[in-house]
Amino acid sequence: MKFKKSQKLYEKGLKNLVGAVNSPVRAFSSVGGNPLFIKKAKGTKITDVDGNEYVDLVLSYGPMILGHRHKKVQKGVDKALKKGYSFGASTEAEIKLAKIVCDAFPGMDKVRFVNSGTEAVLSAVRLARAFTGKDKIIKFSGCYHGHQDSLLVAAGSGLATLSMPGSKGVPEGAVKNTLIANYNDLDSVKAHFKKHKDIAGVIIEPIAGNMGVVIPENNFLVELKAYLETQGALLIADEVMTGFRSKFGGAQELLGVEADITCLGKVIGGGFPVGAYGAREEIMQEVAPLGGMYQAGTLSGNPIAMAGGIATLTELKKQDPYKKFEEIGSIIEVILLETAKKYNVALTVNRFGSMLNPFFVNSEVTNFVEAQLSDTKKFAVFFWEMIKNGVFLPPSQFEAWFLSSALSDKDIKIIAEAVDKAMEKVS
Ligand code: PLP
Repeated sequence: MKFKKSQKLYEKGLKNLVGAVNSPVRAFSSVGGNPLFIKKAKGTKITDVDGNEYVDLVLSYGPMILGHRHKKVQKGVDKALKKGYSFGASTEAEIKLAKIVCDAFPGMDKVRFVNSGTEAVLSAVRLARAFTGKDKIIKFSGCYHGHQDSLLVAAGSGLATLSMPGSKGVPEGAVKNTLIANYNDLDSVKAHFKKHKDIAGVIIEPIAGNMGVVIPENNFLVELKAYLETQGALLIADEVMTGFRSKFGGAQELLGVEADITCLGKVIGGGFPVGAYGAREEIMQEVAPLGGMYQAGTLSGNPIAMAGGIATLTELKKQDPYKKFEEIGSIIEVILLETAKKYNVALTVNRFGSMLNPFFVNSEVTNFVEAQLSDTKKFAVFFWEMIKNGVFLPPSQFEAWFLSSALSDKDIKIIAEAVDKAMEKVS
């Protein structure tokens, strides 16, 4: 397998791009080596500039749930492109996508579209503060909610990959109202409420995917929501990753919880830049132009992105792939576990529907501390062997793998063969 052209582009890219990437999660620094440059993708496959083809389990970190360039999405976007790209005024497409989203999430009477998950979350936090009149927000260690200042502490995703406890440039004042709790540990939440009277809400990835996949145990979310109600604080579900992926109604539908404010992104744009936050009527009344919480965006509700979202969600609803995700997900999980056993490699696999990943550790992983026990050197060896055998994975132990509804038996065979070679190399 050759990476000659990728290497050349990497060197060229270094001149004007930081690390030749536009998001640190795309750097290959934690697995050793340089990032691959992509030429094209179709269906379940992604092809790099050297012509190497991979089964794609990154899927742009989640959005490409139907696989790449699904014909219905392509058609919807092509049609929208012919009418204009951006108007700075409302379009019918925004109303259509808003209806699909609000119908799927019973806790959302109204939604506001933005351009990224980061924007969705920072607006949701502002809204929680505006509605409750309180300032403090609790987040969980290892959860990632985008790169806004106030939540860039004890965060997963790229910060976990690069072993960064926080970010330079975030003033102390920006995080003074951020409190950290442990995932799956309600007592750690309660301890903050005992100390502080001004907690607006708790933000959580209802199924965490940014410290690797970590699953809420038992009734954690239901109990968390019930407890917050007793405290007059809001539950903010960051479903940027899980929205329309865990179920059409997100992790909330699956886990039987209704958040006060929901954040969405990724799948709702089908590969185009869209984020959204929404809540029940009384909360959304706070948002300008109705209320006093200001939030805006030149490209928000962009017609091309709306078209991508409408086509993706319409097709997703028709396909209803969640049973298939469960089946394929469990096949891949078994492949990983049995192959690890065959080669005597210590492995734990965490999976929830179409999000999964292996940790190179033989103890369970229920929070960030346990996730960090994984042997990242083994992951790096595993990663490169998977690449060499035709499977594209996130270049980090602390990112979820994603499945698309386009995955076929042939793809699973490629994955199984690659896992066999990779585990042998790790052992
Ligand atoms: N929230 C979660 C749960 C995410 O996984 C991400 C991104 O991976 C974000 C927020 C930020 O979204 P974006 O990268 O679109 O700004």
